[in-house]
This record gives sequence, C-alpha cells and structure tokens, in this order.
Amino acid sequence: MSKRDPLAIRGEYAVVIGGSVAGLLAARVLADHFERVTVVERDHFPAGDGMRKGVPQGLHPHVLLARGREILETLFPGLTDELVAAGAVRMNFTADLLNLSPMGWGVRFPSAIIEPALTRPLLESRIRRHVAAHPRLSFVEGCDVVGLLAAHGRDVDGVRIRQRGQTEGEGGVEDLAANLVVDASGRTSRSPQWLQELGYPAVAETVINSFLGYSTATFEPLAGFEPGWKGLYIQPAPPTHLRGGVIWPVEGGRWMVGLVGMARDYPPTDEAEFMAFARSLRTPIFYEAIRNMRRLTPIAGYRTTENRLRHYERLVAWPGGFVVVGDAVCAFNPVYGQGMSAAAMGALELDGALGELAADGATGAWGQRFQKRLAARNASVWQLATGADLRSPATEGALPGPLDRLMYRYLDRVFLRSTVDPQVALTVVEVLHLQKPASALLHPRILWPTLQGVSRSTSHPQPT
Ligand SMILES: Cc1cc2nc3c(=O)[nH]c(=O)nc-3n(C[C@H](O)[C@H](O)[C@H](O)COP(=O)(O)OP(=O)(O)OC[C@H]3O[C@@H](n4cnc5c(N)ncnc54)[C@H](O)[C@@H]3O)c2cc1C
Repeated sequence: MSKRDPLAIRGEYAVVIGGSVAGLLAARVLADHFERVTVVERDHFPAGDGMRKGVPQGLHPHVLLARGREILETLFPGLTDELVAAGAVRMNFTADLLNLSPMGWGVRFPSAIIEPALTRPLLESRIRRHVAAHPRLSFVEGCDVVGLLAAHGRDVDGVRIRQRGQTEGEGGVEDLAANLVVDASGRTSRSPQWLQELGYPAVAETVINSFLGYSTATFEPLAGFEPGWKGLYIQPAPPTHLRGGVIWPVEGGRWMVGLVGMARDYPPTDEAEFMAFARSLRTPIFYEAIRNMRRLTPIAGYRTTENRLRHYERLVAWPGGFVVVGDAVCAFNPVYGQGMSAAAMGALELDGALGELAADGATGAWGQRFQKRLAARNASVWQLATGADLRSPATEGALPGPLDRLMYRYLDRVFLRSTVDPQVALTVVEVLHLQKPASALLHPRILWPTLQGVSRSTSHPQPT
C-alpha cells in the first residue's frame, strides 16, 4: 500500500457507492490518494455490531481467509487483535478445524494458519470503526445512489443520491460531484444499466450456478459439551454428496450452524427438517454435535449464490472518473469463503492503480486499465470456485472440459493424500486461503507424494 504522503494526493474528492466490505476497503485505499472520500450507503449503520438489511448474508457463517486477514491487517494495523479482544475465536485451520473433504478427513496438525473466527457483523463493524476514525473519510447513510452524473460528455463526474424512503419526485435528492466514483454496491449493482444510459455497450456476464442454498442458525453449547475441535466443516462432494455443513465458532461462546445443499437440494428453515437434513450428512458427527447445542435464533435461508462475473474488462470504451469493485464485478459461490478476501485483494489492486494516476486524473484509459488488472486478479479465485461447482452435473453456465476432468482426477488424489500427509494438506489449505496460487499443487513436493497415492484403508476413516 502507498505511504500516506501528502504529495501523493492526486485528486480532491472520491465517492464510494456501498459501505460493505468492498466499499470500506476501497475507501481506505482512496484516502491515500484523495483529499476527501465519502462512502454512500443505503442503510443506516447499526450501533455496534448489529445486523443490517443491506447485508443479509451477515446471518450466515463468514470465514475470513488468511490472505484476506493479512491484507486487512495491513490496511488497519491492530485489527486482528481487536477482533480477538471482541471475542473472535483464534482458529488454527489445520489443527482446530475438523474438515471432511471429498476424499476423507483432513489430517490435523498445528500450522501458522491461525485466523479469527467471528460473525460477519462484528468484522464489518470493526472495519467501519477504523474507516470512520480516518480524517479524510466520511459516510452518508440512509441514501441510495440512484444514478451517475455525467455533465460533460460520457465521463462520470459524480452521483445522484436519494434519501431512503423517498420516491422519485418527492425530493430528498442531492447531487455529489466527484473526481472519482467507485461502485462497491455488490451483486445487485446497477452499473451495467447506468453505463448503458451513458451510451456504453452492454456488459457481458458469465454466470455459473450450482444452485446452492444455505440455512443457518446460531447455537450455544449445552453444559459440558466439549467436542475436541473448534470448528467442523463437512464439504459437499459432488456429484455423489450434494449436502454439507459447517459449525463455526463466533464471539460470545456461540456457534453458527450452517447447512448447505447443491443442485437445488436446498436445506430447510423448519426446525425438524433442519435437524433431519443435518442427520443426512455423510457423517453422524455433525448431527451429534448440534444435539448438544441449544438454538438461539430463527433459522435463516439464503439462495443467491451463483458465481457472477461482469466482464467490464472487455468494454472497448470506458468512462473517466469511474471504476467498479468487489461483488459488483465478481461474486463467487460463497461456500468457498472467498468474497471478502477477493475484495481485499481488489483494494490492493486499486491502491496500485491509483499510484499510477497521472495529472489528468482518473481518465477512461486509466479506469479501463484498472478493470483489466482487477479481472486478472479475480481470475484465479474464479477458477477455484467455479471449478469446484462444475463437479456437480446440475451446475449451469459451463461444462467441464477434458482438461478440467483431468484436473479433477489429479485433485482427488491430492485431497486423498492430504488426509495423511501434513505437507500436502498444508499446501491445499494455503491454496484455499489464497496465500498460494493453485499451481502450487503441481509443485514436485506435492506432485510426487500425490502420485505415490494412498490406499483408502490408510487414510483416516474417522477424524483424528
Ligand atoms: C450466504 C453468504 C455467505 C458468505 N460467506 C462468505 C465467507 O465465508 N467468506 C467471505 O469472504 N465471503 C463470504 N460471502 C461473500 C461476502 O459477503 C461478500 O463478498 C463481501 O461482503 C463483499 O461484498 P461487497 O462489499 O462487494 O458487496 P455487499 O456485501 O453485497 O455490499 C453491498 C453494499 O452496498 C449497499 N448498496 C447497494 N446498492 C446501493 C445503492 N444504490 N446506494 C447505496 N448503497 C448501496 C448495500 O446496502 C451493501 O451495504 C458470503 C456471501 C453470502 C451471500
């Protein structure tokens, strides 16, 4: 990240649309390059770490991957300790998490991958607190951005905002002029329509949908329940096992229990059916664990989980003064826990691009270069998420090719080896945590032991 050097300030005023994770991180890096930055959010932020309407996914487990946490710590020094002080559970991902991969139980051993496990609202509120304390950053809450301003041709020079609850023609409308507008408004972003209104062509989209749903509730343990693990993850293993679940520790001595089902085998939100679904997973450990817990919240469902990639990088013309980041560009099937970390990687990319801003500011050519950089950065994460989803025959949007099928066969052997071999297991976890590229799984240190194979009888039939 650039040093906060006043000479590095290149623009007067930037506006960010959306105050969720991608918007907050974008705002933080913009503050190193602009005199003032305003985040416009349609919600009123809750006091403390409460839920809010604009981020309904906050009711579901959110895993903060190692790469994402490292970037957050760079942007907000001391954040990890603050999260732990607020009750986040320090989770050693190779020792404390009982993980049933498609090929068996992961071998358990201590490693340096120790990350805070917590609720999404707690994480977002602590990031927001840092942003709010920054002298160049401010919020406009309870206002929708309803359009882009482009007073001088087709370049963007601000946004139109309207107070929540007001309809068109009722007032409550204001224009904010800005040198740069960053759209971080998530999956439902209206940038494709806004760009078309300015005369730009339609944005191509790739959608790969495994039709996965979540059902989640928060539980507390009954007295005496000490399972010998901090978290439990039963991965779906398509095409044979389309169901999975996670028991995720969060602040306050509670666990979030999330069930997932692919191929429209959506988990239910009715109590009895929820328990029956949990009982149907491919190990009894999950069901036995939640029988030792008491449910504290209603069961919430969620089904908008398709991988959605908007190809802004392909547009041949791009407006000055405008970029798009986060889920608004590339949203992943959340079951792989990548969205917030990809947003963090995108914020670093934005910081790098802002460092290259010339005296003429955020021109269309600059914005176009940034969208291409971001697309390249997202590509490997997209590959991991969609590659896994395409193993389910019910997934729509693409078909696995011969190379993919070859790779699946190899990965199955890697996963099998990772049930007995800590070195292979560690590399798998590092790849899934976006610390290493997927190509690390082809390194000779992984390839040779993988090719030696493991007979299923020597892999762990039970968690160890
Ligand atoms: C069920 C589920 C589970 C997930 N689990 C994980 C996980 O384990 N790990 C992980 O890293 N990620 C996970 N994710 C993904 C993660 O939530 C997102 O990737 C992350 O929040 C970054 O998204 P974002 O900030 O781009 O958009 P969002 O989080 O969708 O936020 C968009 C924001 O913009 C605001 N907004 C929208 N339109 C306007 C407008 N016109 N004007 C003003 N404000 C507007 C919204 O109110 C909201 O605050 C999960 C997602 C889901 C759905």
